Amino acid sequence: MKIDQYTELYGIVGLPVKHSLSPVMHNAAFQAVNKNAVYLAFETGDLKGVINGMRALSINGMSVTIPHKVNIISYLDELHPLAKDIGAVNTIVNCKGRLIGYNTDATGALRALEERISLEGIRCLILGAGGAARSIGFALKGVGAILTITNRTASRGQALSEALSCTFVPWERIDNIDTELIVQATPVGMAPEVDACPIPESVLKPGLMVMDIVYNPYRTKLLKLAMSKGCDVIDGVSMFVYQGAEQFRLWTKMDPPISVMERAVKEALGRHHDSNRPGQKSQGKD
Ligand code: NAP
Repeated sequence: MKIDQYTELYGIVGLPVKHSLSPVMHNAAFQAVNKNAVYLAFETGDLKGVINGMRALSINGMSVTIPHKVNIISYLDELHPLAKDIGAVNTIVNCKGRLIGYNTDATGALRALEERISLEGIRCLILGAGGAARSIGFALKGVGAILTITNRTASRGQALSEALSCTFVPWERIDNIDTELIVQATPVGMAPEVDACPIPESVLKPGLMVMDIVYNPYRTKLLKLAMSKGCDVIDGVSMFVYQGAEQFRLWTKMDPPISVMERAVKEALGRHHDSNRPGQKSQGKD
């Protein structure tokens, strides 16, 4: 990698952030397209400092992760309409000092789904009501999916179902739901708790499409069970890579080298295989 006086700077801000695979993915992408740029991880809670730093040092783009996706909004100059509807930002573009917020979690999830299944009119159950579930819910609503939300904490699930004008069902009642698509948007099953599955096996029927947005491990317990029951599955790596690819396009105006990005993430997950075992340090939270 060449670094000189023309090297452009990008990064991710979060707290914690050292688990993130975004640096591996974006640096592989810059190298693949011969772009003189680097992408670093910044672990901080000082959002005002981040914003001042982006302007002062001409940092061209920033990913935003837990716990800053909502709080960063008040520091930005402009929001893309989808990020405004969702109320969360995972991407900042520095447009000559004007900082614009986007939500590529939503568009990344949509792309991962759309390449496998037609979404208009589909009956979809979303597990969870956190930031990721909210992003995916707004994206799916925008393409005409018929949504049902379930969540461990009913009040939070009900609030999201009201925001999306859709049905809420209590977590204990999901085995009675008739659905064509399940989107798993909780951390259940993420390393090191790799033997956890958020739903009863009885929900998994042949022909059902199951997407798990957890991407470490690459094949979660839920996806393994779903495959054994004849369901079609979509893993969390595809959403992660597509949200990153959209960031890359917004920042560079270039076509993202998606297969390079996917390979970099899967290789990094492979290297972290040992840390996926129960009792080891967790990796891969976005
Ligand atoms: P979040 O805002 O903290 O929300 C977490 C959600 O999961 C809440 O609805 C919470 O329910 C539920 N939950 C947590 N632990 C649970 C448990 N033991 N049983 C049942 N429900 C539980 O987190 P987030 O940002 O939405 O992220 C959720 C997951 O998505 C994380 O694993 C993250 O790594 C992953 N993610 C992946 C991508 C990707 O690109 N693939 C992108 C973003 C996020 P309560 O309301 O009851 O607490």
